[in-house]
Amino acid sequence: MVLKNYFFLILVLFFLGCKNTSEIQVSKPPNIIVILTDDQGWRDVGFNGATDIPTKNLDRLAKEGTIFSNGYVSHPYCSPSRAGLLTGRYQARFGHDCNLPYKDDNDASIGTPLSEIMISEALKKQGYTTSAIGKWHVGDHPDLHPNKQGFDHWFGFPGGNTNYWGFPENYLKTIYRNGKPVDRKNLSYLTDDFTNEAVNFIDKNDDKPFFIYLAYNAPHAPDQTTKKYLENTKHIENAERSIYGAMVNGVDIGVGKIDSTLVAKGIKDNTLIVFLSDNGGRKKVADNQPNRGYKGMLFEGGIKVPFFMTWKNGIKNDKIYKNPVSALDIFPTLLNIAGGNAKDEPQLDGKDLLPYLNNETEKPHNLLFWRSSGGFEYAVRKDNFKLYKSAFKGKTLLFDLEKDPNENFDISDENVTKIKELNKAYANWDSKNINPNWYDPHPENVLKDKENYIKKRNNSLHPKIKKKLNKNLN
Ligand code: CA
Repeated sequence: MVLKNYFFLILVLFFLGCKNTSEIQVSKPPNIIVILTDDQGWRDVGFNGATDIPTKNLDRLAKEGTIFSNGYVSHPYCSPSRAGLLTGRYQARFGHDCNLPYKDDNDASIGTPLSEIMISEALKKQGYTTSAIGKWHVGDHPDLHPNKQGFDHWFGFPGGNTNYWGFPENYLKTIYRNGKPVDRKNLSYLTDDFTNEAVNFIDKNDDKPFFIYLAYNAPHAPDQTTKKYLENTKHIENAERSIYGAMVNGVDIGVGKIDSTLVAKGIKDNTLIVFLSDNGGRKKVADNQPNRGYKGMLFEGGIKVPFFMTWKNGIKNDKIYKNPVSALDIFPTLLNIAGGNAKDEPQLDGKDLLPYLNNETEKPHNLLFWRSSGGFEYAVRKDNFKLYKSAFKGKTLLFDLEKDPNENFDISDENVTKIKELNKAYANWDSKNINPNWYDPHPENVLKDKENYIKKRNNSLHPKIKKKLNKNLN
């Protein structure tokens, strides 16, 4: 370790002798913690306007850093969104378009393939010790688990959801530590268990740069919480919202505990924390306002999430950054901060955000794309315009997000040229994608053939939805 620090000092001195000294970060590479929540609505944090759910720790950390008020994820639901975040690539590039079929004996071809470079692998190359804690959901098969994807340490469950009490209902819902099932007697409430694991990991690894991917499954269903957290949301009249709020509050208190640990160890100033949700909040309980729609949709409510980055040594505090950013930007941003060079990873679709945060006139993204249901639905954002080919609405919609952030007024009829332009941009982008490697939600839909998929999917749908969907499928 001493040798490594010495080497880093030499490196810094070397760079100081170079021309662009102003761009060189003269400090030890920061520790990095990416905190991901699950299905949390855009406005379900105080820093975006929530008044009923107490999130004082997240609010404080957000104020200590930069809030992204137009922060997007690359997909409106769990698995594909995580695949994008972890690889820094549009997940359609490698066919990870859908949630994983729920089958215990899944094969290793379903999930983010090992050939993709995850951020954990890139940071390991920079000398980081890496940990994945929480929900995984990008590969059920043991060959695709975190320990095979660049994480030195893993504590969590392989699947997309589980009960919060650690009951090992099936293989996907069992808590593992580095591949070995954890005795339920050693678990309490999963949100607390994940927090404690992160605190212990920091305790053991504070002498070297570490990376923690802390993916809480809260506030995803099932709605389960503890008396302690419910006490903090008992003022919320709607019972479902009160439980949901308590689940969010559990995360907030956990994040506060992690923050206190960093402070106590004297490493807070040089620890970078990224916070975001994996997709928009779910219907009924979550609050995505002022955005339209919810989880699963390509309206803003499905893809815009609470999102901030904080790092005293390197990111401006008390700032709201309004230009659109993407979860895909996390990989290149962190890699460069860690001492790597994102330009050496040409597969990355995101941008290093740091230069843009200091120069607001230039936007990180000219275009952003979303492909859902294997292309039956898609969206494109360019400047203020957003095109949304909605399978459920049965048409292509166009919104001006500047004038109409709620996406209430479809202006497609009077903007035929713009539609053409954005469709062309989408087609060009999509030409670099591959077909989905599998479909969800039913195992029998694991087909690579579109026609068969439509047929099978139609057979599994409610007649009302089928009618709407069919308008635009063919
Ligand atoms: Ca989710």
